[in-house]
Amino acid sequence: MSENVIEVHNLAQSFGGLRAVDGVSFSLANGEVLGLVGPNGSGKTTIINTICGLYEPTGGSVMLDGKDVTGLRADKLARIGINRTFQIPRPFLDLTVFENLEIARNHASRVTLGVAEVAELVGLSESMGKPASSLNSTHKKMLDLGRALVMSPRVLFVDELAAGLMPAELEGVTQLLREIARDRSVVVVEHLLGFLDRVADRVLVLNAGKEIFAGSLSAALQDDLVKKVFLGGSSSS
Ligand code: ADP
Ligand code: MG
Repeated sequence: MSENVIEVHNLAQSFGGLRAVDGVSFSLANGEVLGLVGPNGSGKTTIINTICGLYEPTGGSVMLDGKDVTGLRADKLARIGINRTFQIPRPFLDLTVFENLEIARNHASRVTLGVAEVAELVGLSESMGKPASSLNSTHKKMLDLGRALVMSPRVLFVDELAAGLMPAELEGVTQLLREIARDRSVVVVEHLLGFLDRVADRVLVLNAGKEIFAGSLSAALQDDLVKKVFLGGSSSS
């Protein structure tokens, strides 16, 4: 049996004629954090949406703990351990923080963390009784992270969580993600390279839906094609 928690092979997603994700592969062992980097529109969120079952892949495969889970629906994948946060968080606004976490937990097939424990981790213990609509944007992001965490993910996808956070909040999120990654795999989409450098073990750089580099962030920053794509804007060639 495979040592990897998740193995993504040749993943593809097309929208009409647009190849938003064009043959992307990676695998992650327990405890590993992968950073996904690339210009806007390079396919980062579509990779998450496709692996997490929002859209059926147009090609490729996804294995979770050695089992083929390609094409399963999002709710099923979430239940069995592929969870994610959204670039724009989507809590149930009329429900309290507690209710949002409780609903997510009730959908999980295995539970390793309680609602109170998760609220503590993401810094929302004091806000349990407040409606999600009353939270500021950082706390909405933390609630979204909590909703994913309370389902005890094997693989957690985090889409631009750090964007817009204050420096002190960033430090907390850096620590939190490393802690979360101790007993699962984590994929982090982020533009802030200083943050990624501290959070990710390695990065996969995308341009126009394709991998252009995989390896350490410091090596990526030395790579000619990566430099061209980041300095020269996205290229679809
Ligand atoms: P990123 O997250 O890297 O900024 P996205 O994955 O959101 O990029 O988008 C990749 C490309 O796919 C973009 O050209 C975007 O317009 C397109 N795209 C994403 N989702 C859809 C969709 N549901 N329908 C059509 N095109 C989409
Ligand atoms: Mg995106």
